[in-house]
Amino acid sequence: MSNFKNFLFIYVLLCISGVIIALYCGYSAAQRSTEIVFCDVGQGDGAYIRTQNHIDILIDAGPDEKILDCLHNNMPFFDNHIEFVFVSHLQKDHYGGLQYVGEQYTFGNIFVTQMLTESKDLFEGIIKNKYRGIETINEKSLISIDEKTFFKVFWPSENLKNQPDPNMLSHIMLFEDNGLSVIFTGDAQPITLSYVEDQLKSYIKEHSIRIEILKVPHHGSLNGLTENFLTSVSPEIGIISSGKHNSYGHPSKRILEMLNVHNVSVFNTVETSSIKTYIKGRRLVVEFLGRSHLYGVF
Ligand SMILES: [Zn+2]
Repeated sequence: MSNFKNFLFIYVLLCISGVIIALYCGYSAAQRSTEIVFCDVGQGDGAYIRTQNHIDILIDAGPDEKILDCLHNNMPFFDNHIEFVFVSHLQKDHYGGLQYVGEQYTFGNIFVTQMLTESKDLFEGIIKNKYRGIETINEKSLISIDEKTFFKVFWPSENLKNQPDPNMLSHIMLFEDNGLSVIFTGDAQPITLSYVEDQLKSYIKEHSIRIEILKVPHHGSLNGLTENFLTSVSPEIGIISSGKHNSYGHPSKRILEMLNVHNVSVFNTVETSSIKTYIKGRRLVVEFLGRSHLYGVF
């Protein structure tokens, strides 16, 4: 009887291990390439990237716990560590959710732009030491994720000192992964876009890349995207992250018209909920509400 019990125990253990391995293999096989999810966080920004090599990256975390739905839906259940966290700038609609993420996940490095002393204390209080280190990034930063995946930062300038407007400090950075090119802009302002547009244009030309996705600055506000910047980066699609009935009137009709004139397909999380994007073959796949849409031939 004792032998039978032992046999039964080992048998059950093997079955459970088999199921876990099958689930893990199934998940790994299901991930076709690096995936970028623009999370529906209401009025705010939050994007989750899982690279082909299973590295997790969070770029902003929205204002509150809503970001957790997106992570639960897109991050494997067995993984509770986010290797890289970027905060575009210190405004609550971009970092408030980190408090809730920190209760369920651990962080690797956290990258922020310049912080004023009082906002630094507030921010560090929210993330409660659940990180390896906080690093300040500027136009000179190049953050390597793995061999073919990196972030190149174009803004803020390292010479920008004690800027009182946090939006002026919002990062503008290019994410490159095996030919997928995405520009993240946080709440970048027209003036900061004008400082980097020539540099970005030269970089795109020099490296013969094409921008698949532009995270439209500042939730589609009129105090964000400009005609010149849009012409310089010429993206295939634009993503707007804004909340229902927000008091700012985001996105602006003029910005939507501008994107339309430039033949940029626009998706707004307020209409689509979270948006998953990835490259399949030579097409950009945009998935939301259970439907897939194909863009471009690269
Ligand atoms: Zn914002």
